[in-house]
Amino acid sequence: MQKKWVYRFNEVEEAEKYIGGDWDGVRGLLGGKGANLAEMVRIGVQVPPGFTITTEACNAYLASSRVFSDEIWNQAKETLRFVEEETGKQFGSSENPLLVSCRSGAKFSMPGMMDTVLNIGLNDDSAEAMVQMTGDARFVFDAYRRLIQMFGSVVMGLKDELFENVLTKYRKKANVESDTDLTAEDWKGVTREFKEIFSRHAGREFPLDPYEQLMLATEAVFKSWNGKRAVDYRKAAGIAHDLGTAVNIQTMVFGNMGDGCATGVALTRNGTTGENRIEGDYLTNAQGEDVVAGIRLTNDLSQLKNEMPSIYAEFENIAHLLEKHYRDMQDVEFTIEKGKLWMLQTRDGKRTAQAAVRIATEMADDGLITRKEAVLRVHPDQVDFFLHPQFSPEAIKKAKEEGQLLAEGLNVSPGAAIGVVALTADLAESWAKQEGKQVIMVRPETKPDDVHGMLAAEGIITSRGGRTSHAALVARQFGKPAVVGVSDLHIDMGRRQIEVNDTIIREGDWVSIDGTTGVIYSGSLETIIPDIKDPWLEKLLSWADEFRKLGVWANADYPVDAQRALDNGAEGIGLCRSEHMFFEQGRLEHVQKMIMSDLPIERKEALDAILPFQREDFAGLFKVMDGLPVIIRLLDPPLHEFLPSQIDLITELSDLKIRFQHAGNLKEIDGILAEVEKKEQILKRVERLHEANPMLGLRGVRLGIHIPELTTMQVRAIFEAACQVAKEGVDVHPEIMIPLTSHVNELKVQRSVLEAEALRVMKENDMEIDYKFGTMIEIPRAALTADEIAEYAQFFSFGTNDLTQTTFGISRDDAEASFMIDYLENGIFPENPFATIDKDGVGELMRIAVTKGRSVTPDLECGICGEHGGEPQSIQLCHDLGLTYVSCSPFRVPIARLAAAHAALKDDKME
Ligand code: ADP
Ligand code: MG
Ligand code: MG
Repeated sequence: MQKKWVYRFNEVEEAEKYIGGDWDGVRGLLGGKGANLAEMVRIGVQVPPGFTITTEACNAYLASSRVFSDEIWNQAKETLRFVEEETGKQFGSSENPLLVSCRSGAKFSMPGMMDTVLNIGLNDDSAEAMVQMTGDARFVFDAYRRLIQMFGSVVMGLKDELFENVLTKYRKKANVESDTDLTAEDWKGVTREFKEIFSRHAGREFPLDPYEQLMLATEAVFKSWNGKRAVDYRKAAGIAHDLGTAVNIQTMVFGNMGDGCATGVALTRNGTTGENRIEGDYLTNAQGEDVVAGIRLTNDLSQLKNEMPSIYAEFENIAHLLEKHYRDMQDVEFTIEKGKLWMLQTRDGKRTAQAAVRIATEMADDGLITRKEAVLRVHPDQVDFFLHPQFSPEAIKKAKEEGQLLAEGLNVSPGAAIGVVALTADLAESWAKQEGKQVIMVRPETKPDDVHGMLAAEGIITSRGGRTSHAALVARQFGKPAVVGVSDLHIDMGRRQIEVNDTIIREGDWVSIDGTTGVIYSGSLETIIPDIKDPWLEKLLSWADEFRKLGVWANADYPVDAQRALDNGAEGIGLCRSEHMFFEQGRLEHVQKMIMSDLPIERKEALDAILPFQREDFAGLFKVMDGLPVIIRLLDPPLHEFLPSQIDLITELSDLKIRFQHAGNLKEIDGILAEVEKKEQILKRVERLHEANPMLGLRGVRLGIHIPELTTMQVRAIFEAACQVAKEGVDVHPEIMIPLTSHVNELKVQRSVLEAEALRVMKENDMEIDYKFGTMIEIPRAALTADEIAEYAQFFSFGTNDLTQTTFGISRDDAEASFMIDYLENGIFPENPFATIDKDGVGELMRIAVTKGRSVTPDLECGICGEHGGEPQSIQLCHDLGLTYVSCSPFRVPIARLAAAHAALKDDKME
């Protein structure tokens, strides 16, 4: 038996059978457009009759060095007979001609594929016949010239300008603004001229044989699968190259046969806000493409309710039916021909993050989908949307209406930004830094030399490059909105301007970029920060909380941060960096005194001065986190960080010496001398503390062992604070965390000293505090000996920043300033390990640590407090490793809650 290459729209069951029942497979075979047209027929929606030539046929065509096999072509022609029967019309007939459209449709919608050709089947004879039948020569010749135009540009690759010039000429001649005012005679003339243009530029006459038209159009769709733009797009979007595209041949319906006719597009819900109300645009007396082409001002779909009430009601019913059937918001195309409604396309609609959240939540509330599905429909990255400035929907609408939309590129780094165009990194930097301007840096592509400009800019545009280009990587890393690969944008360095199609923008002019959608605009659009307290988001996240197994904690040093974390749903503090408080005014001097002193008594004095500050800080945190665990990390950074830098000191000293030479009196001289002496002392100490590799030097637990009074003071502050707030009725759970442990003996030594102090404070206050002593795991040796360490630690917290540095032997700051981008661009590292946990290396150490640790203490609390704790892919890993919680920035807590739920729901699916 012959293979079936062609499926009628009412044969979706056959397609399903062939593919083995799976809808994704049907989409693969018939393409998205074809599969959904067939599905609409199955559920009883009115669709103009037609059929789909499969993606397999496309692949066969491309594999056979582009010959249309008789087998496929004959099946297509035979299937066309059924359409003729159904419509009572005949393809190529000069009496009652059937016209069809030829529409491409791959499994995933992709730009760069061949466009649609409408009105196939028209020629001089059938045009005459249609004039006879409809009595409307204007309509017929408008349709005919459209066929020649589309066929010319789409199939033969002629410039559309050639045709547009003729139209302009006719409009001028008739002295009218719009095509709709041209007469039948005009259209006849246009048709004639189009044919001439066609034969002059295409190297052949316009094909008058309808079958030849159909075949050439079909072949052109097949070929466009391997066109450069389509291939580039697939590469960038990660779509497989062997899917092929299907071709849909469909009976034409006409929205341009006068009144009672219209054509339009709609979303079944609002794509910007998610509101459950149909929104769309339509045009009366127009054909398909006119609505999106923007040549005429469209009407809001709500007006159709007045204009054609019964059709509107029917449309509403179909919209509901489709939503119910597809269980998602739909994006539809329709045409009304003489009072009859036809559906031409449906697919899941695009939406903003905000709309995605609202739609998923409301659909679950209405029972259309389950809560699990709702949670899974929103990607954790979409929650990020609520945290960055965005252009307001009104601003976008207005900008589009006023023609400010310039072009689209790849949306590689989210958020909105406005600024004046700067064409070089140096200019971007000097404008931003010296003149305080907001700048958008525009470059063909970026290189490491451009990074200073990118940092100074509000946002970045490049005309070349893809998702892993230098510009994209740097922008994401620094959180700068960016749109890259804007191929319509031309940079003219000579004239210091950019050109986008016909618009010229000079250096210094305002532009706006939307890194979330990849669109760039001229002028400055209004930005707003979406509210993270979105009611639908809160509901969705509360559902996510029910599904997730990982706890979500936050890193917070101050009560305000803790409060924000709590508001965002955090269940504990996973990391309070106690030393951050040392830098504050009124404290740093004591800290410096402590570092400078050689006598234990002096040191104790300085520490005693710091103690009350720390106690108040901790008390504040405990109060906010009433009832929840708070992990406080003891002093971690090397001491020199609290002293002025060597270079600063040397400059200050030489300044003082100059002043000394010009000193006017003895008193001044004495003052200067005293200051010199003090600075020299500090300098000496700085020099003594100087380390070749501070990151691997005297810091963390080593520091605590070196200066035990320091950590004892911190523990005292923690327990005094705990006792104090407990007396006020706060339910307090401090966890003391020792940083940078590499050997169990370090922990042994520190813990006995610190625990003794803790017991002392509790005894002084005659209280019991529920506390834990634990350690960070951020040195490979600690991970590998976690069973020994677990004997002395009641909890582990993975410091994945340091663990990544020590596992790779790479210092993060140095790497990101020099070779990291290069490594990523060239695929040496698949991902930045400081952004996403390196599963095979760092992740493996974590797995070993969890396993060994829990072999000693089965319910050992294991968490992560590195920046990775807020990154979805790393959260997935933490879930897989069975960690107790992830701890991240308070801002990222909502993202982490959703990501943790996704990870848990993935397990469900596997079962
Ligand atoms: P695209 O993927 O670019 O939207 P489509 O194949 O959907 O291309 O078609 C482009 C336009 O032509 C759409 O507005 C569509 O509704 C319209 N169209 C396509 N086929 C027909 C048809 N048989 N009758 C009327 N309009 C059609
Ligand atoms: Mg199109
Ligand atoms: Mg379409």
